[in-house]
Amino acid sequence: MSKVLVLPGDGIGPEITTEAIRVLDAVKAKFDLDIEVDYGLVGGSAIEEHGCPLPVETMEKARAADAILLGAVGGPKWDHLEMARRPEKGLLGLRAGLNLFANLRPAILYPQLAEASTLKPEVVSGLDILIIRELTGGIYFGEPRGVRALENGEKEGFNTYVYRESEIRRIGRAAFEAARKRGGRLCSVDKANVLEVTVLWREVIEELAKEYPDVELSHLYVDNAAMQLVRAPKQFDVMVTGNMFGDILSDCAAMLTGSIGMLPSASLDENNKGMYEPVHGSAPDIAGQNIANPLATILSVAMLLRYSLGEAEAADAIEAAVSSVLDQELRTGDIMSEGCRQVNTRQMGDAVVAAIAG
Ligand code: NAD
Repeated sequence: MSKVLVLPGDGIGPEITTEAIRVLDAVKAKFDLDIEVDYGLVGGSAIEEHGCPLPVETMEKARAADAILLGAVGGPKWDHLEMARRPEKGLLGLRAGLNLFANLRPAILYPQLAEASTLKPEVVSGLDILIIRELTGGIYFGEPRGVRALENGEKEGFNTYVYRESEIRRIGRAAFEAARKRGGRLCSVDKANVLEVTVLWREVIEELAKEYPDVELSHLYVDNAAMQLVRAPKQFDVMVTGNMFGDILSDCAAMLTGSIGMLPSASLDENNKGMYEPVHGSAPDIAGQNIANPLATILSVAMLLRYSLGEAEAADAIEAAVSSVLDQELRTGDIMSEGCRQVNTRQMGDAVVAAIAG
């Protein structure tokens, strides 16, 4: 039996995770899967109940689970709190506590939604990229860091960009493995013309490539990678990069699709245990109105089944069902276009469940 922990979180989190779990139930029934679902609190909802964004009980449940499905955290109610007590700290605590070092961010543009992008439809229609970002190292975590006063009274801010060989190797391996399961092409992004850390990055990735002769490896400097992403994004299959470059490039890739309500993500540890969540936030402006798009969370369930539970067939069925509801021209408000039928959160969930049942 596999255990899935659901952390609905705040804002639209409870509405969208409810639909995602109905979809999980539908594939459980169809493919006879033995999956137990439990629930926990994180973020603002945990602050209300326990006074902290990541209660011990939630962390224990997360450690015991094979995979975690998260809605979203945060909202104006908790914005006044000091950094350490904010809802977002709950997320960071989960990522660090579970050692979720590999962040997988697919940027997929369903042909039915090509008009949603700000780029020309022919440039982005059918786009299917997977960006793999290192999540627990690099300049965001390097020490020493801070702001210090110089002798002349001027202040100086400083951070440290550092990666160990072992950190590069494990994210590289995750990327080669993912490329092998997809189109067989991997592009590693660095700044090896300027930064020594990424000279090492490139060396380690080249070394790893010998173990993956079936994967075609290329390298790009990050500035060129950013240009290529908006010039001709369909040239990419899987991209792998460090924490900071990945932060920026994955948001850029997400925006190519123009529909943030459609994008899932995964953060994995070395054993493919993972936390799955939509790329978007808790959308407090539309929370509780039954109008949020649940598809990113539903597609996060597909990723969860594929990467952590090894249930590729069930994952395929969910992705096919999402494509089918788009073919039926059903749209939530955020992806609505002329000639389509606007549906609410629950109706979108109903349609995906019906498509799975066939
Ligand atoms: P957001 O993604 O929540 O919302 C941006 C815009 O997109 C809003 O207009 C919102 O209504 C819309 N939107 C987002 N998801 C949608 C969906 N599924 N369906 C329809 N429309 C959708 O980003 P924000 O407004 O910058 O942040 C709001 C809160 O979410 C903040 O507290 C922020 O800290 C938090 N946040 C959480 C996460 C996370 O939990 N991983 C990520 C980003 C932001």
